[in-house]
Amino acid sequence: MTAVDRPTVSFELFPPRNPDAAPKLWATIEALATARPDFVSVTYGASGATRYTTRALVRRLLRETSLNPIAHLTCVGVSRAEITQVVEEFLDEGVRSFLALRGDPPVGQPDWHPHPDGLHTASDLVSLLRKIESRRAAGSPSQKVRGAVRPLSVAVAAFPRGNAGAGSTRDQDIQALLDKQASGADFAITQVFFDAECYLDMVAAAREAGVTIPIIPGIIPTTDPARLLRVQELTGVEVPRDLLATLAAEDDPVARHRVGIRASVELVTRVLDGGAPGVHIYTFNTHQAALDLLEGAHLGGGAPTAPDVADAPRVQAPPSTSIPSRG
Ligand code: FAD
Repeated sequence: MTAVDRPTVSFELFPPRNPDAAPKLWATIEALATARPDFVSVTYGASGATRYTTRALVRRLLRETSLNPIAHLTCVGVSRAEITQVVEEFLDEGVRSFLALRGDPPVGQPDWHPHPDGLHTASDLVSLLRKIESRRAAGSPSQKVRGAVRPLSVAVAAFPRGNAGAGSTRDQDIQALLDKQASGADFAITQVFFDAECYLDMVAAAREAGVTIPIIPGIIPTTDPARLLRVQELTGVEVPRDLLATLAAEDDPVARHRVGIRASVELVTRVLDGGAPGVHIYTFNTHQAALDLLEGAHLGGGAPTAPDVADAPRVQAPPSTSIPSRG
């Protein structure tokens, strides 16, 4: 396999909730960097809740590593002027890649209303990002040159099963994805899913509808049943009962980790064989499971450079699996 054919590898991180967590996150980032990811994305709280911590982490990634950070941005609940200012701040920091999202309105707040002068959809945010970039380029030849050598890239979200949280079906979200593409999105990253057919069917339907941008599958390493249930609660994406039962049947954490990685490796292998352009791994700010998954899928797990206390010991992909080599 040539470097050109190599599927993309990327990771999602979130900004540390408190400064004490920063050293551990940084050790995780160093370990993840050994996999030479194409990019790492950094989440952003809905209504701008992590505006400063997201920016601080993205800035540090830009200044102190060779990693290519993508800043998530949400627009729900804020005015067009506020989100414009946030975008300008990120651009001033040298950020050139964004994941444009609507974000979810707060739950349990009956008095909450969208901002009267806000953006309504992720597609609106993609348009705004493109508009701001064009304005900056038009206003300064230097900025135009910078934009030419480091073009703005805009990713968006896609939903293999529809978005339960937003109450939309798969086909409504494919229409939304078409809008995002028309507004200038370069590629999409999917919501978590556990069934390869679910991703492959959605991509086929999206292609049928006219979506041409790459759609990267978002993958969670399935090693931690409690985390999977939490993800189910947050996203509405149901975790297969048999997977949870298989994990629960293993008392030994190392054996459970191995079983979970095997399931994730099978999922990744199937979506890559089905034409997925790469994998985006939801790391939950830990590295071990992500690297073991990559190693099992022959995508280059690298060697961890720092211990990750939250994860079980590193395991090899079991020799019994019939995973085709991607090496
Ligand atoms: P949109 O595409 O705007 O969709 C929102 C709703 O509006 C959907 O129901 C859609 O069908 C509908 N819609 C869109 N366009 C139209 C239209 N033209 N007409 C009618 N209806 C329309 N959330 C965070 O808060 N922070 C994050 O960092 C974050 N990162 C994420 C990363 C990924 C890869 C994914 C998949 C999700 C992430 N989310 C994050 C969650 C996301 O913000 C929510 O799932 C949100 O509900 C939908 O976001 P969206 O960008 O797809 O919005």
